[in-house]
Amino acid sequence: MRIVLLGPPGAGKGTQAGWIRDRYRIPQLSTGDMLRAAVANGTEVGRQAKAIMEAGKLVSDDVINAIVAERIDQPDCAGGFILDGFPRTTQQAAALEQMLAERGLALDVALEFKVDPAALVERISGRFSCASCGTGYHDQFRRPKVDGVCDVCGGTEFVRRKDDQPETVQARLEAYEAQTAPLLPYFRERGLLRTVDGMAPIEEVTAAVAAVLEAVVKDDGAANA
Ligand code: ADP
Ligand code: ADP
Ligand code: ZN
Repeated sequence: MRIVLLGPPGAGKGTQAGWIRDRYRIPQLSTGDMLRAAVANGTEVGRQAKAIMEAGKLVSDDVINAIVAERIDQPDCAGGFILDGFPRTTQQAAALEQMLAERGLALDVALEFKVDPAALVERISGRFSCASCGTGYHDQFRRPKVDGVCDVCGGTEFVRRKDDQPETVQARLEAYEAQTAPLLPYFRERGLLRTVDGMAPIEEVTAAVAAVLEAVVKDDGAANA
Protein backbone atom coordinates (compact mmCIF):
# COMPACT_ATOMS: atom_id res chain seq x y z
CA MET A 1 0.00 0.00 0.00
CA ARG A 2 1.31 3.44 -0.96
CA ILE A 3 -0.16 6.25 1.11
CA VAL A 4 0.22 10.02 1.23
CA LEU A 5 -0.69 11.81 4.47
CA LEU A 6 -1.98 15.36 4.09
CA GLY A 7 -2.71 18.04 6.65
CA PRO A 8 -1.19 21.13 8.24
CA PRO A 9 1.65 21.00 10.77
CA GLY A 10 0.29 19.48 13.97
CA ALA A 11 -2.62 17.71 12.29
CA GLY A 12 -1.48 14.32 13.59
CA LYS A 13 0.20 12.89 10.48
CA GLY A 14 3.28 11.62 12.29
CA THR A 15 1.25 10.17 15.15
CA GLN A 16 -1.02 8.16 12.85
CA ALA A 17 1.86 7.25 10.51
CA GLY A 18 3.45 5.43 13.44
CA TRP A 19 0.32 3.38 13.87
CA ILE A 20 -0.06 2.66 10.13
CA ARG A 21 3.60 1.61 9.94
CA ASP A 22 3.17 -0.93 12.73
CA ARG A 23 -0.18 -2.19 11.46
CA TYR A 24 0.74 -2.64 7.79
CA ARG A 25 4.50 -3.13 8.20
CA ILE A 26 5.42 -0.47 5.70
CA PRO A 27 7.99 2.26 6.37
CA GLN A 28 7.07 5.82 7.33
CA LEU A 29 8.94 8.22 5.07
CA SER A 30 8.90 11.59 6.81
CA THR A 31 10.67 14.22 4.73
CA GLY A 32 10.82 16.43 7.85
CA ASP A 33 12.65 13.67 9.77
CA MET A 34 14.99 13.08 6.81
CA LEU A 35 15.81 16.79 6.63
CA ARG A 36 16.37 17.04 10.39
CA ALA A 37 18.74 14.06 10.17
CA ALA A 38 20.59 15.78 7.30
CA VAL A 39 20.91 18.96 9.37
CA ALA A 40 22.16 16.99 12.39
CA ASN A 41 24.70 15.17 10.25
CA GLY A 42 25.88 18.36 8.56
CA THR A 43 25.43 17.00 5.03
CA GLU A 44 25.24 19.29 1.99
CA VAL A 45 21.43 18.98 1.93
CA GLY A 46 21.35 19.73 5.65
CA ARG A 47 23.46 22.87 5.23
CA GLN A 48 21.09 24.10 2.52
CA ALA A 49 17.92 23.25 4.44
CA LYS A 50 18.75 24.46 7.95
CA ALA A 51 17.93 28.19 7.64
CA ILE A 52 14.87 27.52 5.48
CA MET A 53 13.44 25.12 8.06
CA GLU A 54 14.15 27.49 10.92
CA ALA A 55 12.23 30.19 9.04
CA GLY A 56 9.26 27.83 8.60
CA LYS A 57 9.53 27.90 4.81
CA LEU A 58 9.62 25.02 2.37
CA VAL A 59 12.86 23.49 1.13
CA SER A 60 13.19 23.52 -2.67
CA ASP A 61 11.21 21.00 -4.67
CA ASP A 62 14.28 19.66 -6.49
CA VAL A 63 16.09 18.81 -3.27
CA ILE A 64 13.04 17.12 -1.74
CA ASN A 65 12.09 15.21 -4.89
CA ALA A 66 15.61 13.79 -5.15
CA ILE A 67 15.55 12.66 -1.51
CA VAL A 68 12.22 10.89 -1.94
CA ALA A 69 13.14 9.27 -5.28
CA GLU A 70 16.22 7.77 -3.69
CA ARG A 71 14.37 6.64 -0.60
CA ILE A 72 11.54 4.78 -2.36
CA ASP A 73 14.08 2.66 -4.21
CA GLN A 74 15.33 1.16 -0.94
CA PRO A 75 14.36 -2.49 -0.47
CA ASP A 76 12.14 -1.80 2.56
CA CYS A 77 9.79 0.21 0.32
CA ALA A 78 9.08 -2.70 -2.02
CA GLY A 79 5.81 -3.56 -0.27
CA GLY A 80 4.63 0.04 -0.02
CA PHE A 81 5.26 3.11 2.11
CA ILE A 82 3.72 6.05 3.93
CA LEU A 83 4.66 9.50 2.70
CA ASP A 84 4.44 11.81 5.72
CA GLY A 85 5.02 15.46 4.77
CA PHE A 86 5.48 14.88 1.04
CA PRO A 87 4.27 16.08 -1.42
CA ARG A 88 3.82 19.63 -0.13
CA THR A 89 3.54 21.53 -3.43
CA THR A 90 1.78 20.74 -6.69
CA GLN A 91 5.21 20.50 -8.30
CA GLN A 92 6.16 17.78 -5.79
CA ALA A 93 2.85 16.01 -6.42
CA ALA A 94 3.54 15.95 -10.17
CA ALA A 95 7.08 14.71 -9.51
CA LEU A 96 5.70 11.93 -7.29
CA GLU A 97 3.22 10.87 -9.95
CA GLN A 98 6.03 10.64 -12.49
CA MET A 99 8.39 8.89 -10.07
CA LEU A 100 5.80 6.20 -9.41
CA ALA A 101 4.78 5.84 -13.07
CA GLU A 102 8.45 5.29 -14.03
CA ARG A 103 8.52 2.40 -11.60
CA GLY A 104 5.18 0.98 -12.71
CA LEU A 105 3.61 1.99 -9.40
CA ALA A 106 0.68 4.13 -8.31
CA LEU A 107 -0.62 5.75 -5.18
CA ASP A 108 -3.47 3.98 -3.37
CA VAL A 109 -4.78 6.80 -1.22
CA ALA A 110 -4.17 10.37 -0.08
CA LEU A 111 -5.40 10.65 3.48
CA GLU A 112 -6.34 14.11 4.73
CA PHE A 113 -6.43 15.01 8.44
CA LYS A 114 -8.96 17.79 8.71
CA VAL A 115 -8.34 20.01 11.72
CA ASP A 116 -9.50 23.33 13.09
CA PRO A 117 -6.58 25.74 12.47
CA ALA A 118 -7.15 27.22 15.94
CA ALA A 119 -6.09 23.91 17.53
CA LEU A 120 -2.76 23.65 15.73
CA VAL A 121 -0.68 26.07 17.78
CA GLU A 122 -1.67 24.22 20.96
CA ARG A 123 -0.88 20.88 19.33
CA ILE A 124 2.50 22.02 18.11
CA SER A 125 3.61 23.91 21.20
CA GLY A 126 2.97 20.84 23.39
CA ARG A 127 4.77 18.42 21.07
CA PHE A 128 7.90 16.53 22.14
CA SER A 129 9.44 13.21 21.23
CA CYS A 130 11.71 10.51 22.58
CA ALA A 131 15.35 11.28 21.79
CA SER A 132 16.16 7.58 21.30
CA CYS A 133 13.27 6.14 19.28
CA GLY A 134 11.41 9.22 18.03
CA THR A 135 8.00 8.31 19.44
CA GLY A 136 5.89 11.45 19.58
CA TYR A 137 4.17 12.80 22.69
CA HIS A 138 2.17 15.80 23.83
CA ASP A 139 2.25 17.67 27.16
CA GLN A 140 -1.52 17.40 27.42
CA PHE A 141 -2.89 14.97 24.85
CA ARG A 142 -0.39 12.14 24.86
CA ARG A 143 1.79 11.94 27.93
CA PRO A 144 4.06 8.94 28.50
CA LYS A 145 2.40 6.39 30.81
CA VAL A 146 5.16 6.98 33.34
CA ASP A 147 6.32 10.61 33.48
CA GLY A 148 9.75 11.04 31.92
CA VAL A 149 9.96 7.50 30.51
CA CYS A 150 9.27 6.59 26.88
CA ASP A 151 6.45 4.02 26.56
CA VAL A 152 8.13 2.32 23.63
CA CYS A 153 11.84 2.12 24.45
CA GLY A 154 12.16 3.19 28.09
CA GLY A 155 14.32 6.17 27.08
CA THR A 156 14.43 9.07 29.51
CA GLU A 157 15.60 11.85 27.19
CA PHE A 158 13.14 13.88 25.19
CA VAL A 159 13.52 16.59 22.56
CA ARG A 160 11.48 19.50 21.27
CA ARG A 161 11.78 20.80 17.73
CA LYS A 162 13.34 24.21 17.26
CA ASP A 163 10.73 25.11 14.63
CA ASP A 164 7.87 24.33 17.03
CA GLN A 165 8.09 27.82 18.58
CA PRO A 166 5.03 30.06 18.04
CA GLU A 167 6.88 32.52 15.74
CA THR A 168 7.88 29.78 13.30
CA VAL A 169 4.59 27.93 13.54
CA GLN A 170 2.74 30.88 12.01
CA ALA A 171 5.04 30.86 8.97
CA ARG A 172 4.59 27.11 8.60
CA LEU A 173 0.81 27.40 8.72
CA GLU A 174 0.96 30.10 6.05
CA ALA A 175 3.20 27.93 3.87
CA TYR A 176 0.65 25.13 4.25
CA GLU A 177 -2.29 27.30 3.19
CA ALA A 178 -0.48 28.84 0.23
CA GLN A 179 1.49 25.89 -1.09
CA THR A 180 0.10 22.61 0.25
CA ALA A 181 -3.67 23.11 0.56
CA PRO A 182 -3.99 23.12 -3.28
CA LEU A 183 -3.05 19.43 -3.14
CA LEU A 184 -6.47 18.60 -1.69
CA PRO A 185 -8.31 19.31 -4.99
CA TYR A 186 -5.38 17.78 -6.87
CA PHE A 187 -5.87 14.41 -5.18
CA ARG A 188 -9.65 14.73 -5.12
CA GLU A 189 -9.68 15.08 -8.91
CA ARG A 190 -7.70 11.85 -9.13
CA GLY A 191 -10.20 10.03 -6.93
CA LEU A 192 -7.55 9.41 -4.27
CA LEU A 193 -8.59 11.76 -1.48
CA ARG A 194 -10.07 10.41 1.75
CA THR A 195 -10.68 12.64 4.75
CA VAL A 196 -10.74 11.86 8.46
CA ASP A 197 -11.66 14.15 11.36
CA GLY A 198 -8.29 15.00 12.90
CA MET A 199 -9.93 16.84 15.83
CA ALA A 200 -11.11 13.63 17.49
CA PRO A 201 -9.02 12.01 20.26
CA ILE A 202 -5.96 10.12 18.94
CA GLU A 203 -7.53 6.63 19.30
CA GLU A 204 -10.66 7.71 17.43
CA VAL A 205 -8.60 9.17 14.61
CA THR A 206 -6.73 5.87 14.43
CA ALA A 207 -10.01 3.98 14.15
CA ALA A 208 -11.14 6.25 11.30
CA VAL A 209 -7.79 5.78 9.53
CA ALA A 210 -8.08 2.02 9.95
CA ALA A 211 -11.55 2.05 8.38
CA VAL A 212 -10.33 4.04 5.37
CA LEU A 213 -7.31 1.80 4.83
CA GLU A 214 -9.28 -1.42 5.23
CA ALA A 215 -11.62 -0.21 2.47
CA VAL A 216 -8.61 0.58 0.26
CA VAL A 217 -7.13 -2.87 0.84
CA LYS A 218 -10.47 -4.49 -0.01
CA ASP A 219 -10.83 -2.45 -3.22
CA ASP A 220 -7.28 -3.36 -4.14
CA GLY A 221 -8.01 -7.02 -3.60
CA ALA A 222 -11.11 -6.77 -5.77
CA ALA A 223 -9.18 -4.96 -8.49
CA ASN A 224 -6.44 -7.61 -8.49
CA ALA A 225 -8.77 -10.59 -8.29
P1 ADP B 1 2.09 16.32 12.32
O1 ADP B 1 3.01 15.15 12.01
O2 ADP B 1 0.91 16.36 11.42
O3 ADP B 1 2.83 17.62 12.35
P2 ADP B 1 1.94 15.16 15.01
O4 ADP B 1 1.51 13.77 14.74
O5 ADP B 1 3.37 15.38 15.36
O6 ADP B 1 1.50 16.13 13.77
O7 ADP B 1 1.01 15.76 16.17
C1 ADP B 1 1.24 17.04 16.72
C2 ADP B 1 1.09 16.98 18.24
O8 ADP B 1 -0.29 16.77 18.57
C3 ADP B 1 1.85 15.86 18.89
O9 ADP B 1 2.34 16.31 20.15
C4 ADP B 1 0.81 14.75 19.08
O10 ADP B 1 1.08 13.95 20.21
C5 ADP B 1 -0.47 15.53 19.25
N1 ADP B 1 -1.63 14.90 18.61
C6 ADP B 1 -1.66 14.14 17.49
N2 ADP B 1 -2.92 13.76 17.18
C7 ADP B 1 -3.73 14.30 18.15
C8 ADP B 1 -5.15 14.26 18.40
N3 ADP B 1 -5.99 13.59 17.60
N4 ADP B 1 -5.60 14.93 19.49
C9 ADP B 1 -4.76 15.61 20.31
N5 ADP B 1 -3.42 15.68 20.12
C10 ADP B 1 -2.90 15.03 19.07
P1 ADP C 1 5.22 18.91 10.46
O1 ADP C 1 5.33 17.51 10.98
O2 ADP C 1 5.04 19.88 11.55
O3 ADP C 1 4.19 19.01 9.36
P2 ADP C 1 7.67 18.42 9.03
O4 ADP C 1 8.49 17.70 10.03
O5 ADP C 1 6.96 17.62 8.00
O6 ADP C 1 6.62 19.34 9.81
O7 ADP C 1 8.56 19.48 8.27
C1 ADP C 1 9.46 20.35 8.95
C2 ADP C 1 10.08 21.30 7.94
O8 ADP C 1 10.86 20.56 6.97
C3 ADP C 1 9.10 22.10 7.08
O9 ADP C 1 8.69 23.28 7.74
C4 ADP C 1 9.94 22.39 5.84
O10 ADP C 1 10.87 23.44 6.06
C5 ADP C 1 10.73 21.10 5.67
N1 ADP C 1 10.03 20.11 4.80
C6 ADP C 1 9.58 18.88 5.17
N2 ADP C 1 9.01 18.25 4.14
C7 ADP C 1 9.10 19.10 3.08
C8 ADP C 1 8.67 19.05 1.72
N3 ADP C 1 8.01 17.96 1.24
N4 ADP C 1 8.92 20.12 0.93
C9 ADP C 1 9.57 21.20 1.40
N5 ADP C 1 9.98 21.33 2.65
C10 ADP C 1 9.76 20.29 3.51
ZN1 ZN D 1 11.57 5.92 22.96
